[in-house]
Amino acid sequence: MAYDIVIVGAGPAGLTAAIYAGRKKMKVIVLESELVGGWVAKSHIIQNYPGRPDVSGDDLAKTIEKQVKKLGIEIKYDGVNKIEKNGNFKVGCSSGKTYEGKTVLIATGASARKLGLPGEDEFLGKGVSYCAICDAPLFKDKVVAVIGGGDSAAKAALLIAEHSKKVYIIHRRDEFRAEALLVDEMKGKKNLEMVLSYVPVKIEGDKMVSKLVVKSKKDESLKELSVDGVFIEVGNTPAAVLAQQVGAELTEQGYIKVNKLQETNVPGIFAAGDVTDFPLKQIVCATGQGAQVAMSASAYIMKNKK
Ligand code: NAP
Repeated sequence: MAYDIVIVGAGPAGLTAAIYAGRKKMKVIVLESELVGGWVAKSHIIQNYPGRPDVSGDDLAKTIEKQVKKLGIEIKYDGVNKIEKNGNFKVGCSSGKTYEGKTVLIATGASARKLGLPGEDEFLGKGVSYCAICDAPLFKDKVVAVIGGGDSAAKAALLIAEHSKKVYIIHRRDEFRAEALLVDEMKGKKNLEMVLSYVPVKIEGDKMVSKLVVKSKKDESLKELSVDGVFIEVGNTPAAVLAQQVGAELTEQGYIKVNKLQETNVPGIFAAGDVTDFPLKQIVCATGQGAQVAMSASAYIMKNKK
């Protein structure tokens, strides 16, 4: 029998949609290829989620997961590789299984953006990382550079500063994009040095990273930083391949276009969270959008029953 809603992606948007749909007694399944909680589960600490100040990302993700499972909703680890409209939607997975849904929610989030620097791929896992919470402890008493000026870079730099001897944060402008409070916190760290108006040029080393070369945006001069690690935190790329496949319209930047009801241009396909064109990429926004999807999908099913 078909599910009322097949939810692709178990980040805050997908899980909240599952809670709201489950409480409406809709038949729901959540499919996740990697990690329940998405990037939230990889966040050291979340300080702006109302009601849970200073909660660890892992704790927040696990609490939401428990709330979903308490409703009897299944979360399956299976990577979705195809969504087809054939009567209902057929959602094909890498396990070979196909799940049938009257509606589908695409809540696939976004993945770490690469810089394309020389040495970036070569030293991945040998000093180059895109995940501070996973890898910061590996750099105990070492020297590390973090590239980026947004919330992710600031949080990564602050976390790494707890473990490492020294952290450089390399940002291409004089002003940070990150929250002002995070910037204040960085300024208070004795072992954190801001390298502003510099861009990274190349990562060098032998077996492991040993050097990051950066270039001044003011006078083009080059500077060599002796580092053991380079964390790249320069934003995300929306994971919208499935949406594109099923005919959903994307913005020029690759985000899924949705209206206020979280509907895409394909009837029955909804999207929520960081993969959509909603400008603010925050957990509170993703959860709100997820809740709306449950309402919109339920209304869609009712309308199509008649
Ligand atoms: P972001 O806000 O898009 O910031 C990306 C940073 O990388 C910017 O400072 C950008 O510089 C820099 N950058 C981009 N391309 C670059 C390049 N080619 N070379 C050098 N620098 C480059 O990304 P994010 O920090 O990953 O955050 C993504 C979203 O998640 C944001 O909305 C953020 O608020 C949210 N987030 C929230 C939390 C939380 O706990 N609330 C934590 C993490 C992320 P410019 O500033 O010059 O553009």
